[in-house]
Amino acid sequence: MLRLCPDDWDRERFVAAHAGINRSRRQVCLVLLVPGILVAWLWSAPTVWAAVGLCLLVAVANDLIARYRSVVVAGVLIAGGFELAVAAVVAATGGIHSPILGWLILPVMMLAARYRRAVLLAAMGCGAVAGTVACLLADVLGTAKPYPAALLGLTTVTLGVASGIVAMNLQSADIASRHDATTDQLTGALNRKALTPLFERMSKEADARDSHLSMLLCDLDHFKSINDRYGHAAGDDVLCHAATVIRQAIRAEDRLFRVGGEEFLVLLPHADATVAAGVGERIRATLAASPAGDIAVTVSIGAVTTPGQRRSGERELQEIADRALYQAKSSGRNQVVTAEPPWADAVTT
Ligand code: GH3
Ligand code: MG
Ligand code: MG
Repeated sequence: MLRLCPDDWDRERFVAAHAGINRSRRQVCLVLLVPGILVAWLWSAPTVWAAVGLCLLVAVANDLIARYRSVVVAGVLIAGGFELAVAAVVAATGGIHSPILGWLILPVMMLAARYRRAVLLAAMGCGAVAGTVACLLADVLGTAKPYPAALLGLTTVTLGVASGIVAMNLQSADIASRHDATTDQLTGALNRKALTPLFERMSKEADARDSHLSMLLCDLDHFKSINDRYGHAAGDDVLCHAATVIRQAIRAEDRLFRVGGEEFLVLLPHADATVAAGVGERIRATLAASPAGDIAVTVSIGAVTTPGQRRSGERELQEIADRALYQAKSSGRNQVVTAEPPWADAVTT
C-alpha cells in the first residue's frame, strides 16, 4: 500500500478519484457485456463463457475485495485480475485475431486516475506480457477462427465507448481537482492561487486590446467585532453573504477572489476607472443595504485601474489598491477610494 500510494498527496488523489472510477467500472462492464456475451455465444465454448464470466466478476468485485484488503490494494488486484481474465479470453478466441484484444488497455486507463506513474508502467508491462502470452497460446491451441465483420465492428465500437467512459471520468477528476485547488471552500470565491494566472491572462488581453484592467480590494469593516459579538460561525455566514453580494454586483466577465480572512479582490477586465468605481460603489451600497440576517455589515474598497499597455504587475496594483483601501478605512470606512492614475494620489469618490 505504501509503495502504491507513498505519500499523503498520492492517497488524497486516490480517494478523490476512487468513487468516479468505481462508477465508470460498472458502466464499462455493461458496455463490454454485449460483445463479450456475443463472442461467447457464437463460439459456445465453455472456456470462453468461463473467461467472460471471470472477466465480469473481476470487474465488479472491487467492493468485495476492498472488504478484506485496503481499497488501494484492491484497485491493483482488480486491474491485474481483469488483465489476466481478458488475456485468457483472448487466448481462447484467437489470440492476435481476437476481437477483444483491445480490452487489455482498459485496466491501464482505469489505474491512470488513481495511481502514480510507476504503477501505470508496471500495468502496461503486465498487459503487454499477458497479451503476448495469450497470442502465443492461441497459436499453440489453434483457437483462431474467422470472425464476422459485424462482430469485429461491434467490439471496436464498444471498446471506443468504454474508453470514452473512462476518459470522461479522468476529465471529471481533473476538473474537480482543479476546482478544489483554486476555490475557497467557505465562500466559493476563487483563491489566491487562481489570482496570478488569471491576472496574467487579463493583463495580456488588456495590452492586446489596448483597454484597461481594474482591481478592487474589498475589506469588511469591523469584522473582528462581528466575530466577537456573534461568534465565528456567524462570522463565516457573513463572509458567505458578502461573497454572494459581491458576486451579484460585479459583471459577468469580472472575477471574485478571497485573498484574506475578510478581504476580497475583484478583477475587472476592460473596465476603466469610472466603470471600476461604479462597480465598487454598487458593491458597497448593496452590502450596506442588505444585512446578513440580523448582522449589518459594510465594506471599504480600494480601487485601481491600469491602462493595458502599461502592463502593471499584480503585486504593484495590489499595493496601490491596498493604499487606497487604507485611505477608505481611515476616512471613516464604508466607502470606495479610487487611486487614479495608479501612481497619482488617491481621490475619494
Ligand atoms: P477593519 O474595519 O479595520 O478592517 O477591522 P477588522 O476587524 O475587519 O479587521 P481585522 O484585521 O482586525 O480583523 C479581521 C478578522 O477576520 C480577524 C479574524 O479573526 C477574522 N477572520 C479571518 N478569517 C476568518 C474566517 O474564515 N472566518 C471568520 N469567521 N473570521 C475570520
Ligand atoms: Mg483585513
Ligand atoms: Mg476588515
